[in-house]
Amino acid sequence: MMVNSENDSLINNIHNVIIIGSGPAAHTAALYCARGLIKPIVIEGDIGRQDMIPGGQLMTTEEIENYPGYEKISGWELIEKMKKQAENNGAIYISGWVTKVDFTSQPYQLWINDESQSWKTSTVIIATGASAKKLDIPGNSLFWNKGISACAVCDGALPIFRNKPLAVIGGGDSALTEALFLTKFTSKVYLIHRRKDFRASPILLQQVLNNDSIEIITDTIVIEAIGSSKLESIDLLHLPNKTRYNLCVSGLFYAIGHQPNTSIFRPFLPVDSDDYLLPIPSEFPGIFAAGDVIDKQYRQAITSASSGCQAALNVLHYLQLH
Ligand code: FAD
Ligand code: NDP
Repeated sequence: MMVNSENDSLINNIHNVIIIGSGPAAHTAALYCARGLIKPIVIEGDIGRQDMIPGGQLMTTEEIENYPGYEKISGWELIEKMKKQAENNGAIYISGWVTKVDFTSQPYQLWINDESQSWKTSTVIIATGASAKKLDIPGNSLFWNKGISACAVCDGALPIFRNKPLAVIGGGDSALTEALFLTKFTSKVYLIHRRKDFRASPILLQQVLNNDSIEIITDTIVIEAIGSSKLESIDLLHLPNKTRYNLCVSGLFYAIGHQPNTSIFRPFLPVDSDDYLLPIPSEFPGIFAAGDVIDKQYRQAITSASSGCQAALNVLHYLQLH
């Protein structure tokens, strides 16, 4: 549902719960709240932003093999199923970005897409997840979307990358997954990692090692992106011997982790040194958080879904008592 005059009445209500987000945490929270008959409103994001898409991080992955109940399922299919199930049980989805909140007193207020009128709610579930980090190197802005991307699954099949040498930066599960994915479109993928040891799961590392199209470059960082109208090469720095050298690539994919989406909450709620939300203090009754936005350690679809469930049960319990 879009934000427009049709849902003026929704804007004027004080809702039981507004859920902000659209990944596994938000959809699971929506399902449990809907089945608790408290008519949850879910603000799910919208198209038009570079750092986030509705549906969350799983929308950028082709194959999920570790979500119980599915041997193999694409990210977008799993998210679609979760959303449909919540909607079928009565959750109401609104397209738009929450751009401001006021958690000073109840009812709490939220603004969508900088509209003048606020949405009011007794409780809030924050399930805003995390966004891909980018490297602040010379050439990053110039070649963003002209050879540089933070999502191989979204962009890897584009003609500018096909049958061209490509590079992926990172040593985690995302980097290895993306490198493997890109070998569908080209026979040369450099996987560039700043250390020797990989934090990625051993099974993925084995797949990468077995793939002749992937060349691993360790102890190395990317220091500059170079080209004319589009990316043509990158400058690398080999850290142990401080050697700088150039590598011809037409694509550079960042897979260097994620930044929790907490900026709009930080004026009110405490965060840790990496901007993850800390446990919500008692002076904010009825505000709960779920998923990657609070989880530095596990960051999985199943753990996000699980914490969405817990947040919803906490909301139901809170509303029973108040
Ligand atoms: P997210 O999925 O991050 O979703 C949050 C969404 O909320 C945002 O995308 C946005 O649409 C919305 N939102 C944010 N801010 C606002 C706002 N202000 N207003 C409105 N809406 C907002 N995990 C696995 O278990 N198995 C895998 O195979 C797997 N593969 C992965 C592959 C990749 C490439 C990546 C990056 C991650 C993968 N993960 C995997 C991890 C998994 O995707 C995350 O743990 C999970 O998606 C986190 O869910 P979440 O609900 O907390 O938030
Ligand atoms: P991670 O935080 O696990 O890995 C980020 C990688 O980027 C690390 O290797 C890190 O290096 C490197 N890095 C960070 N900053 C820089 C920088 N400035 N310059 C160069 N390199 C940098 O993030 P992921 O996105 O890989 O994974 C996030 C979560 O999602 C994890 O829990 C993961 O398990 C999950 N996931 C699961 C998948 C699956 O199950 N199939 C697939 C994809 C993700 P260093 O190691 O030195 O810190």
